[in-house]
Amino acid sequence: MSMLSRAALVLALVGSLGGVSQAATIYPIDRAAILLGSRFDFKVEFDGRVPPERVTVTVNGVEHAAAFGRPAQFVDKEEGHDASALILRDVVLSQPGRYVISASDGRTTSTVSWEVYQAADVRKARNVILFIGDGMSAAHRTAARILSRGIREGKYGSALAMDAMPRMALVGTAGVDSIITDSANSASAYTTGHKSSVNALGVYADRTPNTLDDPRVETITRLVKRTHGMAVGVVTNTEVEDATPAAMVAHTRRRADYDPIVRMFHESGVDVLMGGGAAHFRPSSVPGGKRADDVDYVARFRDGGYAVVTTEQEMKAAAARPEARKLLGLFHPGNMDGVLDRKFLRKGTVEQYPDQPDLVDMVTSALQILSRHEPGFLLMVESGLIDKFSHPLDWERAVMDTIMLDRAVEAAKGFAATHADTLILVTADHTHGLSIVGTIDDGAAGAQMRDKVGTYAQAGFPNYPPPTSEGYPPTLEVSKRLAIFFSDFPDHYETFRPKLDGPFLPSTQAADGTYVANEQYRALPGATLRPGILPRSANQGVHTGEDVVLNAMGPGSEAVAGFMDNTEVFRVIVDALGLGAKLRPR
Ligand SMILES: [Zn+2]
Repeated sequence: MSMLSRAALVLALVGSLGGVSQAATIYPIDRAAILLGSRFDFKVEFDGRVPPERVTVTVNGVEHAAAFGRPAQFVDKEEGHDASALILRDVVLSQPGRYVISASDGRTTSTVSWEVYQAADVRKARNVILFIGDGMSAAHRTAARILSRGIREGKYGSALAMDAMPRMALVGTAGVDSIITDSANSASAYTTGHKSSVNALGVYADRTPNTLDDPRVETITRLVKRTHGMAVGVVTNTEVEDATPAAMVAHTRRRADYDPIVRMFHESGVDVLMGGGAAHFRPSSVPGGKRADDVDYVARFRDGGYAVVTTEQEMKAAAARPEARKLLGLFHPGNMDGVLDRKFLRKGTVEQYPDQPDLVDMVTSALQILSRHEPGFLLMVESGLIDKFSHPLDWERAVMDTIMLDRAVEAAKGFAATHADTLILVTADHTHGLSIVGTIDDGAAGAQMRDKVGTYAQAGFPNYPPPTSEGYPPTLEVSKRLAIFFSDFPDHYETFRPKLDGPFLPSTQAADGTYVANEQYRALPGATLRPGILPRSANQGVHTGEDVVLNAMGPGSEAVAGFMDNTEVFRVIVDALGLGAKLRPR
């Protein structure tokens, strides 16, 4: 055989294995990395109806029933599809190594391979704190450093708390279905070690319309509870049902499944749960309740021994009680207000909900309670409004909430100073398209605001006053401010100024359903219409696909380096906690 024809034959073989004409889709997907001893659902979706006797599914050449210890269930015709499937729930593999899975319908064969890895046996970290700045991009961090630490002759007054950590990596965020991720599949990668699809949590998104039947992968919450009996805390300033916090416990194809997600939180045994989103804890028959069923989950949590709190004062009092081990804090029916509105402007919904705690205080209370659990704890903290304010192009609010995240990181570092066995990870789940272009100087010559945008040497430095003792600039209303612009947007008016009357609402819906610039901002001095560059169905900016930064300190953080896939962050956690010995089959 000539070199050329041999190469052609190899290519043909690779083609038949690699998906040119696939007979079936196999979950977990090709190149999945699976933690040895973790549970997952195995599913094969055939392209059409297949007689069961023609189906062969093997694992490293062995019939799957023998390899997995029991046979998968055959589904002749799946809901909504004229096609057959095989499904086997709660598979646990007993040997590490490479697994080749082949599924044949008698005519064609599909093949995937998995890497099954063991976590370290030795437990280095007693506690893990994972901070997620939702949507936090490099520009958010740099602007937060300028505003909270100051900058003179090119040098910052000091580094952010999240900067000052010994380990760092860039993390890739793309999902199974797209280079652009949302908070569901990206947080899921951190909490399960598996990639998923946009809107999906703790599952591989399958083809059936039921959002709750997709093949599941085990969450870090369940893993640390069933191995070490650890406590788990989830703290956010968005709705607790929102994608990032939900990824700690949920299995659903649809992140908007708020009612089931509350049930999953309750079933998970999570020890501390704090944030907004109270509406989906109560049935719609009670005031403010939004649940479709009749279950009062606030009562269920209370009956389960949780202290239930709704204000900052109640939270602090509950956490201070030495016997407190479990806490449910719901401080808002929806998303909480950001720090700019809560501490400075009293805008947003602060008048209605004046007693919302700060993220820093939530973290401090959570640490107080969680550290009483002898087996150690895992705490996930989300500063979720960085994303919620970046979508409507309100960078000032997003950056103020980045400073707030950093203050919470500082509190965690304070805890780690007396609890050295604590691993701290600080990262984001995806980016937004914002950049620091220079400064805007009201005193500069020119008829239009764009004439006042200073670039390069003309930018110089902004004149925000020195930060308060809490690290926030006391005002954003200055004559020379940061010029930060977004790369993707709907039609809107660029005002070149902070939105002091409340969060920015860049666009409104026109009669034909498309989004147009919000006329409310047209009359502001210097406001300029920016025709959108996104489809007219978009009412705000979107996530972008650049890498995020991961900073880390403490035992196990040495694995954070270089470029990492988001699924590898999960691996850092399970290694630091030494789950290997506990998960190895006996
Ligand atoms: Zn978002």
